[in-house]
Amino acid sequence: MRNTKIETFDATINCVYGCPNNCEYCYGNVLNKRFHFCKDWKVPEWKPEHLKEFYSKNPRSIFIDSMSDIGTWEQEWIEQVINAIVANQQHKYIALTKRPAVLSNKLIAITNKRGNRDFYSLYGHRNLFFGISITTQAQADRADYSVDFYSVEPILESITLPWRSFPKVIIIGAETGNGKGKVIPQKKWIDYLVRQADEHHSAVFMKESLRQLMGDDFRQDKLPWDIER
Ligand code: SF4
Repeated sequence: MRNTKIETFDATINCVYGCPNNCEYCYGNVLNKRFHFCKDWKVPEWKPEHLKEFYSKNPRSIFIDSMSDIGTWEQEWIEQVINAIVANQQHKYIALTKRPAVLSNKLIAITNKRGNRDFYSLYGHRNLFFGISITTQAQADRADYSVDFYSVEPILESITLPWRSFPKVIIIGAETGNGKGKVIPQKKWIDYLVRQADEHHSAVFMKESLRQLMGDDFRQDKLPWDIER
């Protein structure tokens, strides 16, 4: 397990390295060029030796796919990670995907295989939080799934979020670093997301990357894994 500078979690555990999503701003790809976690970043690699990191005692919020996208994992990898999560309920776990449709099918297949159609009643607890990563309107249009949060980071344009399955929390952030073609968000894009969240009584958590842009409107409500259920 690694401590993380990501402000929304305490730590990361990565049992998979690599991602075929091909995002231009991907920091994992940059790190992989330096540290060679996997042979080809576009081909996810399973690293089961990291499963033992779930067994640490000190309770933490842990991001489980900071170097991949759980929607692109093999179903068997998801099952093994879920088993480690079930065995370690002292932590809270967070998973993020840009492929909610594929992930949803894999989770349904896992729960059906175990003879129960309800994912959460199958595991009898609620310490795994799923989010959908949205950076553009096209991704938002494919994100109409019931999840715990949307992560709109980096926001690349003004976005109307799916209305039907609005989650309890919206996390918003800007692109960081000095990458070529970096998109500087406009305040009105963020204000529009906040209005949508307010209309749904959802919390808003802005990353530090937006503090200067938002000024007095900067806002950090509670994160899903900080809200008591
Ligand atoms: S989804 Fe995440 S890990 Fe995958 S390419 Fe995009 S930024 Fe990188």
